[in-house]
Parts: sequence; C-alpha cells; structure tokens
Amino acid sequence: MSNNSLEKSKGKLLQEKLFAKRKNGILRLKDGELEAIDSFCEGYKSFLDDGKTEREAAKASIELATSCGFSEYDPSKKYSPGDRVYSNVRGKCVILCVFGSEPIEKGANILAAHIDSPRLDLKQHPVYEASDLCLFKTHYYGGIKKYQWTAMPLSLHGVIYKSDGEMVEVNIGEDDCDPVFVITDLLPHLGQEQAKRSLGDGIRGEELNVLIGSRPFNDDEVSEKVKLGILSCLFDKYGIVEDDFISAELEVVPAFKAKDVGFDRGLIGAYGQDDRVCAYTALKATLDLDEGSAPKTTCITVLTDKEEIGSVGNTGLSGEYFKHFIHLVARSEGAELPTVLENSKCLSADVSVAFDPTFPEVCEQLNTAYCNYGVTMCKYTGSRGKGGCNDANAEFLSYVRSVFDSNDVIWQTGELGKVDGGGGGTVAAYVANLGMEVVDVGVPVLSMHAPYEVTSKLDVYMAYKGFSAFIKN
Ligand code: MN
Ligand code: MN
Repeated sequence: MSNNSLEKSKGKLLQEKLFAKRKNGILRLKDGELEAIDSFCEGYKSFLDDGKTEREAAKASIELATSCGFSEYDPSKKYSPGDRVYSNVRGKCVILCVFGSEPIEKGANILAAHIDSPRLDLKQHPVYEASDLCLFKTHYYGGIKKYQWTAMPLSLHGVIYKSDGEMVEVNIGEDDCDPVFVITDLLPHLGQEQAKRSLGDGIRGEELNVLIGSRPFNDDEVSEKVKLGILSCLFDKYGIVEDDFISAELEVVPAFKAKDVGFDRGLIGAYGQDDRVCAYTALKATLDLDEGSAPKTTCITVLTDKEEIGSVGNTGLSGEYFKHFIHLVARSEGAELPTVLENSKCLSADVSVAFDPTFPEVCEQLNTAYCNYGVTMCKYTGSRGKGGCNDANAEFLSYVRSVFDSNDVIWQTGELGKVDGGGGGTVAAYVANLGMEVVDVGVPVLSMHAPYEVTSKLDVYMAYKGFSAFIKN
C-alpha cells in the first residue's frame, strides 16, 4: 500500500471544508457530559410533576428562585449589579431579573418561555347528573386532539374562590392514594358509527365530559342523588357549594408523572413539556448565574401564560405586562424605555417539532429538527408563507449562532413542518413587536400537544446550555 492512498482525496477534503456537518449529538458529547445531561433531567422531571398548570409552575419557579437568592421585586427600590429579583404576575406568570454591570440602556438579554399547556378547563356550571352518574362539563384550552383525552387517568388542579372571597386550592389525582377522573369512550363493539367519523371529529368537544362520581345520596326525598352525593363530598373536602364553580379556574390534566422513555432512558415522556421544557431550562440558566458576581448585561427571564390560546389577556405576552416591567427597570436607572427595548436581545424559548419516522410526510427532512441533534433554532414559524410569525433577522441569527458555537452548545435548525403543511406561532412575534431582536430557540418534541409528549434529554440539556451562554454574553 502506498502512502498516497492513505491521504484524503482532493474532493474529500473539499467536501469536509464546504459541506454542512450534521451528526447525532450523543456522538459529539465531551467526557462526562452524558452524566451531566442525565442528572440535569432529574430536576426537570420533578419540575414537571410539581407544576402541571401555569399557577403551579409559577409557584414552583418562585420557590426555586427564592432558594437561589431571588427576592420579590419592589419598583420603588434602587437595585445594584448582581441583585436578583422576581415578579409574580397574577400568580400565573413569573419575571426574573438579574441586574447587570452595564447600564440597562444597553439593553437586556431576555429569555421568554410559557408555562401554560393544552388541557381541559371546567365550564362555569360544570356539575351534572346523567343516568345515575355524575360528570363535569369541560371546554378545552389550546390545540388538542380530543380523542387523545379519553380512557386515561386525569387529575384536577386549580383554584376556587368562595362567595366570601376565600380561596381554596385544588390538586387531586396526583398522589398515589388520590382518586382520579376519566373521560369515557365507546367500546369498539358499539363503536361502528363513531368509527365512521373523521379522526378530528372522533370525540367532540361536548363529549369531553369527565366522570366524577357514581354513588347516590341515600334519601328518597331528593332528586339528582348522585350529584348531591358529589356536592356533599366537595363541601366536606373544600367547603364549597355549586355556585362557587362560577369563580373558579379548574384544569383537567393527565394524572401520570414524568418518566424516562426507552431501554436506554434517553428520552422523557410527560404531560406539559410544551413549554415547561423551555421554562425550566430558561429558569435554571437564570438561577445558575453566578450569585457572587453580576452578569455584564441585565438578564430578564419571563415565564408567561396564555401562549397556547394566542398570548391573549393580561397574563399573555401580546399584552402589556412584560413591557411594564421593563419600563419600571428602565425608569429606576433613568433610561428611556424605547432605547432599552431596541437594544435588547431575546430568545423566544419554545418547543419545535421533532421529526417522527412514523409520520415522515409532514416534515421536510433537510430542514426539520431531530431528537438528540440539540437545541433547535427556528428562524420563522407561521403558516401559508410565514404568515403571522416573527421572521428573525440574519444579523441576529449570526449572533446567536456564534454564541452557541463558541460555548460548545449542540444545536440544529428546525421548522414547523413542510411548506403549507400547517403551521403555528410562538411569543416571538409579540416580543419582536416591542422592537428587540428575537428568534425562536427550543427543544424538539415528539407528539407535541398530546397528553404525553416526548423530548430527548440531550436536547433538554442543550437548551439549558444554550440559554446560559446567551444570557452570560
Ligand atoms: Mn409552545
Ligand atoms: Mn404549544
């Protein structure tokens, strides 16, 4: 064998230089990094189990922040570089801020994720009895495939305000000794007519009725005995009467816990990973900023509500609450709000679609994201020609790309399905309206919006690593 044949050919060398490189992230890890990934994801799974609603996730986030030296923001106070504060927005959103050594006028580094997830909300008059069973009427929240919500254990979370204004917190179905609830489905033996419905129509909105009881109250004088039995249980447990449901927010969610998926435990299966996966990784990146020293740039992380129904309302990012917070921070330093907004940079931290080999037809394989290929940057989302999305600027893509590359973040690009295949949006468009640079960066998900969503542990960790690198810059 001659020496020459060991040398790479001219074409091979040129190819190495010019072609984009794509490789499974697991094959690119440094020594010890796999262990770091797995241990990081244990904390993530606990966070998922502790926060199945926006209120619970906000509470869990504030508890974590408090344990890391964050105190409640006071707009009248003057803060110094390195100070760590949080703001609780109506119990449903959290804003964290770590003051930087540079003036706020130079802009902030912002992470924006959402902590609401698709679910079923109870209607205002939810309780009814039918044929000696008692049920709850629901109205779904966010984009769900309704047929996925039947015949599985469900839990109930939320708050009820009684007529005297007293608040009762509800969390039932999660503890091993709690009862659970269920939406029944037809047996296949009698499901021939149902089977002729289209998949989207397989279970209809008004069929998402949650079974909550069966034992009649033993008194011949009364009607609706099962309903009475249930209301009596609810009165004993929570001190509520039927009308108190009018001033309640109760959410029905899957009752199962986060678990490792696969023999090799490389994936996580859980409810509500869109978008608590980015919320947790953004939160952790913020909390893990060095407590002893200030970051150069002020870091603001917002965990918002209502993304799944269009970022609406006074806890959604199309509203003003986030801008108001930045305004207060700017004012305390004597800076102009527009200057701060224009100089700020944001990662809209939200999930993207992971390529699913069972349904290859909905993605374009050159541009979709893959499990284990790292945190995903999406220049655009939207539908029908990028409609309604933030289409990030090349200048900002260049910036984020260099931050990730110089910090050994394993990352990829992605898009929300093939052209004209459907689409969707994130908070990026609303953040962009404030005048700052923003791009979507997040974790690819299998079975997005299903009761049980799947992510890869490597991608989760790389989101954390990417967000950390971004806010330290
Ligand atoms: Mn999302
Ligand atoms: Mn979503």
